[in-house]
Amino acid sequence: MEPKQQTFSIGYFIAALIALFLLQSVLFAPHAENLSYSEFKALVKKGKVSNLVLDKQTITGTLAADGLEGLLAREKLEELKRAGGGGTHRFATARVDDPGLVSELEAANVKFAGRVENTWLSTLLSWVLPAVVFVGVWAVLMRRFGPQQGLMAIGKSRAKVYVERKTGVTFDDVAGIDEARGELMEVVDFLKNPDRYRRLGGKIPKGVLIVGAPGTGKTLLAKAVAGEAGVPFFSLSGSDFVEMFVGVGAARVRDLFAQAQEKAPSIVFIDELDALGKARGISPIVGGHDEREQTLNQLLAELDGFDTQKGVIILAATNRPEILDPALLRPGRFDRQVVIDRPDLKGREKILRVHVRDVKLTPDFDLSVVAARTPGFVGADLANLVNEAALHAAREGKDAVGMADFDEAIDRVVGGLERKSRVINPKEKEIVAYHEAGHALVAESREHADRVAKISVIPRGVAALGYTQQQPTEDRYLMTRAELLDRLDVLLGGRVAEELIFGDISTGAQDDLQRATDMARHMGARYGMSEALGLATFEAPRQALFLNVPSMAQREYSEDTARRIDAEIEKLLEAAHGRVRETLTAKRDMLTALAKMLIEKEVVSRDGLMALLSDERLRARKTEA
Ligand code: ADP
Ligand code: ZN
Repeated sequence: MEPKQQTFSIGYFIAALIALFLLQSVLFAPHAENLSYSEFKALVKKGKVSNLVLDKQTITGTLAADGLEGLLAREKLEELKRAGGGGTHRFATARVDDPGLVSELEAANVKFAGRVENTWLSTLLSWVLPAVVFVGVWAVLMRRFGPQQGLMAIGKSRAKVYVERKTGVTFDDVAGIDEARGELMEVVDFLKNPDRYRRLGGKIPKGVLIVGAPGTGKTLLAKAVAGEAGVPFFSLSGSDFVEMFVGVGAARVRDLFAQAQEKAPSIVFIDELDALGKARGISPIVGGHDEREQTLNQLLAELDGFDTQKGVIILAATNRPEILDPALLRPGRFDRQVVIDRPDLKGREKILRVHVRDVKLTPDFDLSVVAARTPGFVGADLANLVNEAALHAAREGKDAVGMADFDEAIDRVVGGLERKSRVINPKEKEIVAYHEAGHALVAESREHADRVAKISVIPRGVAALGYTQQQPTEDRYLMTRAELLDRLDVLLGGRVAEELIFGDISTGAQDDLQRATDMARHMGARYGMSEALGLATFEAPRQALFLNVPSMAQREYSEDTARRIDAEIEKLLEAAHGRVRETLTAKRDMLTALAKMLIEKEVVSRDGLMALLSDERLRARKTEA
């Protein structure tokens, strides 16, 4: 894991190689004058050489320094002179096939010796070195790309042991998801007092599946369970299991459970269970996911095999329970599910309270206002929000975090960073301004629509060019027909404003229209809210997967019904369109005034909007129209 170790192995390896070669050239190739064989023979005849060492390929020896004129080429003589070195020089010559050499040497009375080839070095170089290089490269690759840190660790689980006293997560850190927390309390209780449960013969769940959108606090909750119970927490992510070598994942699962059982009572937490536990057999390439299936099978086997009485409880998290292999959800496996919803108004406030524990707020600060302005935020978003607000306050050099900082942070978190610098052409800006003004005015003129909190024509995120933020007065679980109709009107407000002012329409309303159409369809086909369709509900056909490709599924109603649903959608949209047109025609002056204000200021707050709406002049003209 540590990058340091990798550089260690590569760097030192190369250095060692270089050192080895240098050493070799110094030790085994001292400077010697290279002579041709004929020169050597001439020197032998004149008795100028001594101490010969003969080996298979070379002859080396000592050369008398003087009296060489005529025997060697002139350059060589000069070279020898420059080298100095007293009376003798080393020399070497390549040996040629010369059977008469030995008798000639004897005749000239030259001392000579043979040499047995010293082979350990060449053996080393020709055999061991390539092997070392090979192993080295392999080890480096394994370290880089392999599933494990070391060669020997294949199959050893990377599960980390978190001991609760160190992580320090408790239920106090988890807020706003009381129901899920309540259900997991029981698990904590069991882990703390296993004997009490065993004695009464109670059946303890083996696996609990925590289901919830990303960032809703699934991991946090699992850690809190371990923390509260004071047991080791083994955590792994489903995607960790999916390794490149077949069999490694399965080995890891085995090892993980072995470790957990050894340390029982303990908790095994598997994040992203869906990465591992996707329903088998829907993959497009047959046999393409052998590895995942093997791992999943091993997991199922472990789930069945181990004994709850020992006190190991498996928690798993997923945000897509519907794609899980049904085998995982059978009794005795993950037979219990705990669902974490997105937090509601009160929940958001509680979560914010947890995260501002260490943040200094201005004295008049009201967290409930922030909670009201963040519908749809999950715990992770709220944590991020608090952090952004604190950073903003710090940047501005304030000594407490205030509402203005949160305003800024909400803007950031909601739609990505403001891109004021983005060049948007004035015509586009004008269209966006009228479009958003249309939404806002319709919203304010409808009894059941949420109040407008803010209107902006600053482009944010990838898609939205502007937005009208509405603040729901409360969290809603039920909606009446009148409320849905008002929502429909608000959605069409943008498009109608463009129509009225420019006599032309833009692509900007695509998302609004999509949502309006869906809403109209649901009203007619799902909620039984249209006279023409009556009380029957007609769900849209579920998409069936065939070889992972969505295919046309059988509708559960007739062609005729389909036509009637379409007609009903059209009717609802037409009616809404008429109503909105009427409203905006009557408020045309106000629409223009609001759009101008938007073009100028880019952002209009609720106060600004209120001031405009109560402007007598604009009101008066409205009644004239
Ligand atoms: P998940 O596993 O569901 O994707 P996490 O548990 O990793 O989400 O949550 C990420 C972070 O968001 C947590 O570390 C915590 O700071 C914050 N958070 C999420 N839900 C809550 C909550 N209910 N109460 C307090 N903080 C939360
Ligand atoms: Zn719109």
